[in-house]
Amino acid sequence: MISFLSGGTGTPKLLRGMRNLINDDQIAVVVNTAEDMWISGNYMSPDIDTVLYLFAGLLNTETWWGIRGDTFATHRFLDQFDGGEFVALGDKDRAVNIARARMLWNGATLTEATAALAKTLGVEARVLPMTDAEVTTYVETDSGPMHFQEYWVRYRGEVDIDGVVRLGEEHPRATPAAIAAIKEADAVIVGPSNPVTSISPILECEGVREALEEQFVIAVSPFIGDRPVSGPAAALMEARGMEPSSAGTYALYRDFVDVFVQDVRDACEVPGSLRLDTLMSNERKAEALAWELMAIVRSARQKRV
Ligand code: GDP
Repeated sequence: MISFLSGGTGTPKLLRGMRNLINDDQIAVVVNTAEDMWISGNYMSPDIDTVLYLFAGLLNTETWWGIRGDTFATHRFLDQFDGGEFVALGDKDRAVNIARARMLWNGATLTEATAALAKTLGVEARVLPMTDAEVTTYVETDSGPMHFQEYWVRYRGEVDIDGVVRLGEEHPRATPAAIAAIKEADAVIVGPSNPVTSISPILECEGVREALEEQFVIAVSPFIGDRPVSGPAAALMEARGMEPSSAGTYALYRDFVDVFVQDVRDACEVPGSLRLDTLMSNERKAEALAWELMAIVRSARQKRV
């Protein structure tokens, strides 16, 4: 089994390629939940849903969120009442949020609710929330803390920020299932997800870093030069006092990473890193990268036996 740490875009792209090489039931994904929020009375877990929809064959891979071909009737109709909602939730996507909220109200943990959704959707990979505690990423603005979804989805990142904070449980505990997935894997791959909003929240969960230190870990940088392939990673890293580059990403992972992968085009030099083409502009390129990573896992395993 190969385990991944994932957000909702970069790592799912890699997972799409990896699925062509190994069976879904040989993949576990520990997923960031710090972007979750209650919306219109329902529970949205954007990164979990992207990963679930990917494995269910439902994902809209143009946007890397939501269900392919979904309609937005409720979202549009809602617009005329009370300002509507700032996240465009598709009708089927909303149904998943409703089902999850019902399970949570009835006392299920997020892990249990996710497993139930996965079963209904026919997902064979293990999709695991990093924690069952509530922990949320906020950006600090002149007018106070703002939920990351508001910053990125409502304001499209066009707000000055001078910090990134995690609010909620101070020391969220990783779930036993997430820790087991890390410990029992043949290798762990930290995909090219946002280091501040996707991977850091997972690393901050109690037990994760220690489990990673004992494992063979490959991490893929989401940066090419001083720019991420997409999204707000650079602004967020700067706001957190980190260098917005592969070097800054490596600094966050250096205590546990065995192989750090940088793109062949990346001008930033991280000593000892492995250079590969990490730009997964289509499924074939994602599969090629997955192939290279599996070759590293295999040769590391051969060295260990
Ligand atoms: P989010 O939850 O939607 O923010 O998604 P993630 O955190 O999983 O992924 C966002 C990161 O993926 C960004 O920092 C991008 O730079 C990175 N990314 C997206 N596509 C690619 C790609 O093809 N290659 C690499 N190396 N990084 C990518």
